[in-house]
Amino acid sequence: MVPAIKGALLRHSLRGKITLGYYAVAAIILVASLFFVGELRTLEARVVLGQRATDLFNTVLEIRRFERNYFLHHQAADLEENGRYITLAQDMLTANRADFSAIATQARLAELRTLLNSYQRQMSAFAASTDRRPIESIEPHVRMLGQELVAIAEDMAGSERRQIQTTLASFRTLLLGVILCMALLIVVIGRALSQRVVRPLKEMESSVAAISTHRRETLSAPSNDREILSIIAAFNHMLKELDLRQKSLMRSERLASLGTMLSGVAHELNNPLSNISTSCQILQEEVGECDAATQKMYLEQIDQQTGRARNIVRSLLDFSRERAFRKEAVLLRPLVAQTVGFVRGEVSAKSVVKLSIPEDLSVPADAQRLQQVFVNLIRNALEGVGPGGQIVISAQALRVNGPPEGTALGAGCETEGEMVEISVADNGPGIAPEILPRIFDPFFTTKEVGHGMGLGLFVVYEIVDEHGGCIAVLSTPGHGATFRIRLPRDNALPVTETGA
Ligand code: ADP
Repeated sequence: MVPAIKGALLRHSLRGKITLGYYAVAAIILVASLFFVGELRTLEARVVLGQRATDLFNTVLEIRRFERNYFLHHQAADLEENGRYITLAQDMLTANRADFSAIATQARLAELRTLLNSYQRQMSAFAASTDRRPIESIEPHVRMLGQELVAIAEDMAGSERRQIQTTLASFRTLLLGVILCMALLIVVIGRALSQRVVRPLKEMESSVAAISTHRRETLSAPSNDREILSIIAAFNHMLKELDLRQKSLMRSERLASLGTMLSGVAHELNNPLSNISTSCQILQEEVGECDAATQKMYLEQIDQQTGRARNIVRSLLDFSRERAFRKEAVLLRPLVAQTVGFVRGEVSAKSVVKLSIPEDLSVPADAQRLQQVFVNLIRNALEGVGPGGQIVISAQALRVNGPPEGTALGAGCETEGEMVEISVADNGPGIAPEILPRIFDPFFTTKEVGHGMGLGLFVVYEIVDEHGGCIAVLSTPGHGATFRIRLPRDNALPVTETGA
């Protein structure tokens, strides 16, 4: 890969940033280590130089010790040792001339050398003198030279000690400073990295939470890093696929409901059709015999019944047509009554369905979807109770301040305030407690193969949730089941009536 492109890719990837951060910290540690190795070498050189200065000082002290011994005991061996140490000190000075210039000025070094030479000359002259001059004649001068020698050597050793102490102190300060700077840099790099990595992840977390509660539709995060971008793209693609699948599930569920409704619709259509047929027959038989007012009455009846049949067909078409979600104020009673008529086929005709819904109670909803909810709940109840069973469908507006009793699901379960509560209660076999938490799952069914897809309650939940409502179920096996739906109220919408 072209290095520039590779560099750009790395720059816009989390891996690249982490690697960069890692190398930056490694480089800082390397530079700091090299710096301290250099500093330690300087310190080491200083310690060696200090050792040499101390050695010189000790040698000068030895010179003085043997000088004193000689002046006290007049032993030739002491004079010899004195001379040996003088030579040693001179050699030291010569060997370390360059190094000693760091702890004493050239003038001072020259003075030391001159002093040593004249001290040596004095002592050699005294030793070589055959007439053995009295010691007192040179002793004060030699002592004075010796004292000066000691003073200079001591000064050099002391100066080096002080320099070592100063170097150590600045080394300590530097070490502290570098450690602080490194810590600061590591914190800065760490924060920058965590901002780059953690912030988009946190944003993604809250974005996913918003998606799961339908507050958002797509995932996004403030990042241009390759890894994050590909996760977002994959997630959004998955969401799209899920949405498509859900839509297709809903579609097939609606088709199944349409199948259920068809026999009911045929039954419903039968009434207006037979009314029309009866009116027609009467008119045919009495044509020319009855008065114009009677004829008009029959014709009006035919017209009315045709309108009723048209409404039934239109409702079925409305239900089957795919259209976008549209909220309007839906009058509940006619919608429920119509749905009951559609859903109960010939078999369920023997069961009793009671409605207890105020005539004027409306709820803001998508009429088609709400009808789907009723189709599924009423169908389940009718199937549950069987012939002779009883179903009560009631609705009321109420103020709520907590979720409904039982297993409750949906976006509006925690809503407080004005809501419309619709309940579908049956006296069928009820639902066993162990399957109760699963009945809203897609494809969960206890019915025989070919009798249920297990999508009915899942779709009910989806629609209620889409409306910002809540659905709850209460059931005692053997004593029926009650499904309770709560939908938020909004009186500002125009009312739509269902033609029944
Ligand atoms: P399906 O009707 O295709 O089985 P649903 O999602 O509508 O799918 O229902 C899931 C299950 O919930 C049913 O199989 C049934 O066991 C149970 N159920 C739903 N409503 C009732 C009811 N009114 N009485 C008894 N059981 C019910």
